[in-house]
Amino acid sequence: MRFLLIKEVANTNVVSVDISSSILNAIDVMIRNNHRNIVIEDGVKYRIFTVLDVLKIQRDEIDLSLPISSLKLDIIPTISADKNILDTVEYLNNSMEYICAINDDNSLFGLITHTDITTHIDPHTLMDNYRLIDFLKIGSKMKTVSKDTLISNLLSEMVEGFMDHVVVVEDMKPIGILTTKDLMVLIKQKVQLDVSISKFMSFPVDSIERNASIKEALEFIQSKHYKRVVVVDEEGRLAGIVSQKELISLTYSKWAVLMKEYQDELREINSILENKNKEYETMASTDSLTGLYNRYKFSELYVSTYKSMVQRHNEMSLILLDIDYFKNVNDKYGHNIGDKVLVQVAHTLLKTLRNVDIVARWGGEEFVILLPTADLTNAYKIAEELRYQVQELEIDVAGHVTISLGVSLVEEGSDMDEVINKADQALYLAKASGRNCVKTQDDI
Ligand code: GH3
Ligand code: MG
Ligand code: MG
Repeated sequence: MRFLLIKEVANTNVVSVDISSSILNAIDVMIRNNHRNIVIEDGVKYRIFTVLDVLKIQRDEIDLSLPISSLKLDIIPTISADKNILDTVEYLNNSMEYICAINDDNSLFGLITHTDITTHIDPHTLMDNYRLIDFLKIGSKMKTVSKDTLISNLLSEMVEGFMDHVVVVEDMKPIGILTTKDLMVLIKQKVQLDVSISKFMSFPVDSIERNASIKEALEFIQSKHYKRVVVVDEEGRLAGIVSQKELISLTYSKWAVLMKEYQDELREINSILENKNKEYETMASTDSLTGLYNRYKFSELYVSTYKSMVQRHNEMSLILLDIDYFKNVNDKYGHNIGDKVLVQVAHTLLKTLRNVDIVARWGGEEFVILLPTADLTNAYKIAEELRYQVQELEIDVAGHVTISLGVSLVEEGSDMDEVINKADQALYLAKASGRNCVKTQDDI
């Protein structure tokens, strides 16, 4: 069995920003890339910025223009992308859910989570990787005696303490072992028990070093047909004693605990995310495909622009436009080309309009434009220009597309939905009139 390398497990679809960038920029990058977390590059260190941090920022009303360094985000451990997944096991005890996979030059390779590790590690992997020393703390009770101890003096202690063996030590090193099974044989043979243990103990003691893996210990026990093994430290001093049963059950329970912990953690994160998903979506101000404002941001800008329109007594119009027969583009050339068309059309709109105009992706292949200084007549002219520019546009693979447009006037006292509704009716009329044309609310 071959264990995977970090670079085979790590998620490389990771974005990072520099520690000096603003919190707002970090949130923006996170949302634009549709990630739950991004990496913050802080010199040779890496930190993690997650959606949970975004929630905390919201809760604490932190100023988004502050640099990300002001958040004191956690540093995440790093590991070379060339290392083995087994090398990550030690990190599982760390409360940090993420580990950064890095290249030789310390640049970011990707991210790996505890969950990635545990899904690639089973109990056998744990046995291979955990050392006896990790288990000794919870290993079985151990009774040590000196070689001069009388067996008869030990009997009642062993019975009361449910001990099935005693280890005989000299200078802290194990020199012999006496098990309850050995005792039974002695009793059956009616041997005199008020003799020193050294007379009947088994020796020398086969022992294994505490740095051995669980797997090595199990193989050792099996090959010798023992039930248990004496564990010693680097100097040969007694460190503990563990049975085959304990090693197996402790490994499985350790694995079960790991699995449960990460399941609980995942469940918790998922439920938070589900509840907050809508909030994140609306927090995003741009559409990730075209880079235009999204519907949410448009609505926000509409409100502020409307207010200044009322103050200045100027006229303002709105255009709703939709690409004609766009479904055919997708059907004929595929969704990716369809996406490219959307991007090109979006750029043409931006290029044709003035800076004061506000363009947003309303949804699908529909765009909305707010013209803060145009009355209906001017808006019609601008819409006609947009229609012409899109029609002239030469798009890679897809060739030419056309758009239909509906124009409405923003009147004082009317809310955005009413204005959009009128533009939508005009747009519907443009579609019904053969497409690639402009209609205004006066045509309805
Ligand atoms: P009409 O002239 O009446 O507008 O016809 P149409 O085919 O453009 O209209 P319809 O509403 O039937 O189809 C719109 C299509 O736009 C359907 C949908 O798959 C596609 N679409 C929506 N959003 C995206 C997107 O983000 N990318 C791509 N490639 N296609 C999209
Ligand atoms: Mg369409
Ligand atoms: Mg449509």
